[in-house]
Order: sequence, then C-alpha cells, then structure tokens
Amino acid sequence: MKKFDIISIGGGSGGIATMNRAGEHGAKAAVIEGNLLGGTCVNIGCVPKKIMWYGANISEAIHHYGPEYGFTAENVTFDFATLRQNREAYIERSRNSYDGSFKRNGVELIEGYARFVDANTVEVNGELIQADHIVIATGARPSVPDIPGKELGIVSDDVFAWESLPASIAVMGAGYIAVEIAGVLHNLGVKTDLFVRKESPLRRFDPYIVEALVDEMEKTGLALHTHKVPSRVDKLDNGLLQITFEDGSTHQAEQVLWAIGRQPNIDQLNLEAAGVELTERGYIKVNEYQETSTPGIYALGDVTGHIELTPVAIKTGRLLSERLFNGKTTAKMDFNLVPTVVFSHPAIGTVGLTEPEAIRQYGENNINVYTSAFTSMYTALGSHRQMAKFKLITAGPDEKVIGLHGIGYGVDEMIQGFAVAMKMGATKEDFDATVAIHPTGSEEFVTMR
Ligand code: FAD
Ligand code: NDP
Repeated sequence: MKKFDIISIGGGSGGIATMNRAGEHGAKAAVIEGNLLGGTCVNIGCVPKKIMWYGANISEAIHHYGPEYGFTAENVTFDFATLRQNREAYIERSRNSYDGSFKRNGVELIEGYARFVDANTVEVNGELIQADHIVIATGARPSVPDIPGKELGIVSDDVFAWESLPASIAVMGAGYIAVEIAGVLHNLGVKTDLFVRKESPLRRFDPYIVEALVDEMEKTGLALHTHKVPSRVDKLDNGLLQITFEDGSTHQAEQVLWAIGRQPNIDQLNLEAAGVELTERGYIKVNEYQETSTPGIYALGDVTGHIELTPVAIKTGRLLSERLFNGKTTAKMDFNLVPTVVFSHPAIGTVGLTEPEAIRQYGENNINVYTSAFTSMYTALGSHRQMAKFKLITAGPDEKVIGLHGIGYGVDEMIQGFAVAMKMGATKEDFDATVAIHPTGSEEFVTMR
C-alpha cells in the first residue's frame, strides 16, 4: 500500500497549491485527480472564460471604439475555431506547467477518482493509499433546476466545449457566470437574453454598481429579463428550445444555459466511511483551520462553499500546509476583504462591504459613502460612451475604508492594490494623501469628496 504524509483528493486550484507547499516543506505528498489536472479554473473556468472575455473586448474595440479612433473595420471576420484552438493550446501549456512544480516539490500525481475506505485510507482504481493527512479539495459542479426539460439545457462546462457559436442563447441565472458568459457571447455576436428570477442580476453586489451594469446592458442591447422563473423547457420542431416561465410567458433560443449556482462534488467520496460531516447546505463542514469533523481530514476550496474563488482555494491550502509542515501553528485563512472581479462588460471590481452590508454592520449614522460617476475616457470619443461608477464606504470617525466598488473600463486591473491598502487598514485620509495618477480611471478613488 502506498503511504504519504499528505494527499489531496482533487487536483484543482486548492489541491495542487496545498500539495506543492507541503512538498516544499519536505512532506511526502500526492495529488489524486480523476479528470484534468488544474481543475475547474484552468480547464473550464477562469482561464477559458478570461480568454473569451479578451476576445469579446477585441470585438468591442474593432466594432465600437476602433471607428471612433479613425480605424475602419470593414470586412472584419471572426473565426471562433481559431479562438477556440488557441485557447485550448494555452490551457494545455498551463496544465503541462504543473509537471515542473510537482517535480521540484516531489509531489506525486495519482490519476483516478478517490473514495474513502476509512479515515486514513482512500481507494483509487482499486489501489489503497494511506496518508496521515487527507485534504478534500474536490471542487463543485454546476447546478441544474429540477424542471421538465432541464436536460435540454447546457452548463458552463459545455460552453467551453463548443466547436462553434450558437445563433442565440437564453442564459438563466443571476451570478458571476450568467453575467460573464452573457456579456462575452453578446459581444461575440450571439443573440443573448439574460433571465434573472428576481429584480436584478448580482444582487449581492453594491446596488450602485449593479444599476450601472444594468444600464450598460440596456444601452448595448443585451436583453435582460427580470422576475423570470423557468418552469419547463421543450424542443420545438424548428430545432429551437422553448423556455416557459412561471408567469406563462415563453422565449425561444438555440441554446439554454443554466448558470444558477454550483454544488459540491462529494457524491463519489464515500464520506460516511471517514465520518466526515456536512453543513446544512450539503458542503463539507470545516472549522477555521479547515479541519473536518474527522481528525486528520481537511477540506478547502469550493467543496466547503466558502468564497468560491481560485485565489481563495490556493491561499487556504498554502496556509494549511504552512501550519502542518512549517510550524506556523496559527496559520489560517482570513476570509475578510477578499477582492473580486466580475468580468462583465464593463468589469466590476469590489473589496469589502457593500453599502447595505455596511449599514447593517455599522449603522447608517456611522458610515460615510462617496461616489463618482464619469465617462471612461477610452470610450468618450463617439457614441459608444461607457459609464464608470465608483464608490467608497468608510466607517467611524477615523473613516477606515471598509468597502470599495467600481464598474468601468479597466476596473479589473485597478483594485488589487487598493485591496492591499484596505487590508492594512487604510483610511479615507490615507486615500486622499495619495497623489492621483492622471489621466486614469483609478485616480477617482483618491480624489472623492
Ligand atoms: P476545482 O478547481 O474544481 O478542483 C477540484 C478537482 O477535484 C477537479 O479537477 C475534479 O475533477 C477533482 N475531483 C472531484 N472529485 C474527485 C475525486 N473523488 N477524486 C479525485 N479527483 C476528484 N474564480 C476566480 O477566482 N476567478 C475567475 O475568473 C473565475 N471564473 C470562473 C468561471 C467559471 C465558468 C467557473 C465555473 C468558475 C470560475 N471561478 C473563478 C471559480 C474557480 O474556478 C473555483 O473557485 C476554483 O476552481 C476552486 O478550486 P478547487 O480546488 O476548490 O476546485
Ligand atoms: P452564483 O452563486 O454567483 O450565482 C447564482 C445565482 O443564480 C444565485 O445567486 C441566484 O441569484 C440565481 N439562482 C439560484 N437558483 C436559481 C434558480 N433555481 N433559478 C434561477 N436563478 C437561480 O453562482 P455561479 O454559478 O454564477 O458561480 C459560482 C461561483 O463561482 C461564484 O459565486 C463565484 O464565487 C465563482 N466564480 C467567480 C468568477 C470570478 O471570479 N470572476 C466567475 C465565475 C464564477 P438570485 O437569488 O438573485 O436569483
């Protein structure tokens, strides 16, 4: 039987980072992966999405902004097959780079799906593997609503397998994936309709920013339909799919995309054999040190249902290995002030509390809110003007910055540094004391009154 100091079930963002760091500190480590190494982010998430987003931005530049800068865009063609081929080649190169880090850190890759036999042992392809520490980093998969015809729809994984683009798509959902994929496809020329079941998409984001996104969707013709709860999907004789909503209305499109959230990958793990408990929502239950209910078994990343972002899974895993193998006995993930970007059109960036959250936490009289709305200079020459909207929220008499939100051209590359400042406890005075960089969008964050 193979024996290790630590193994990870799952070779995605979290599992790979945890094992590499454990290996760096001399632990005998292995990654067990049943599918493609790199997991969701590299193969069917962040990376292919971001490449498609860049493609959509190039389309925007050619068709909207180029002519305003004097470029002609006649006879421009778009070959999706080229984008797809180059995207997949890039992903393969990224995947191959794991070999190098595994070799450097002495991490073994075991290919196959793992299931628990007992609290120290898993079985992969009929072989038993034992470890002192077992990390569950099996990620999540798309959820699909339980309605008739649900199987006619696709999920985000399928979008990244497309050989060609559909003529039309109905995107169902209101979170990151729905908004990002709808924006990308709309800009690549697919007739796109976005259906949300409540009053707006991205309801957990600051309303000031979401309003700007909705305005932009309206201006650019990405059709947003609110208060639409799908109740069934049928295939029509003309090949189109018809979605019927609870209010009796219908909509037809070539493809229907379910983007209504994700659920943890736990079904194949045989968790009962290891006594690992779940939360009420079905995620793996962990404490602040990522320890499950069974000693020696840990969980991190999407399977725990905390903040489902790649850098969160990576950081959590590295800190766990620092604690287990490098004597940093109190190392643990801080889930506060995690910066995040939605790659919408334009992008949204956010760190910390939204205004409603800040009011709930501090009381309306104890916060100050600063906003700035302006036309992004890049888009200001002609008729395709794009609004940028920024907001800062401060708390208490010293005006510590507790929320920073932006939507607009370049916001995706703007907020990482502000997150550092906020993590260090920056106040409005610190922001004001910083000289602006002109002419940029980010200067608005240090000149708000
Ligand atoms: P995963 O990366 O999902 O890895 C889990 C791995 O475990 C998988 O490879 C799976 O095959 C394997 N596995 C499962 N069960 C077993 C088993 N029993 N045995 C062996 N292996 C098993 N995050 C960002 O920060 N930025 C983005 O821009 C972004 N964009 C995204 C776009 C999309 C479309 C999606 C779907 C997600 C996106 N995310 C993004 C989220 C990000 O991909 C996840 O948060 C991240 O991948 C989570 O890492 P993980 O290690 O927890 O799980
Ligand atoms: P999200 O959790 O972000 O959003 C899903 C939304 O769909 C819900 O918030 C809900 O919104 C709506 N919804 C839920 N159930 C239904 C239903 N039955 N019918 C219609 N709508 C429904 O999930 P995603 O799948 O978009 O993304 C999963 C996670 O992956 C994200 O939370 C994020 O952490 C990560 N991710 C990160 C990205 C990035 O960093 N740029 C990009 C993509 C994903 P409401 O309640 O308003 O209806």
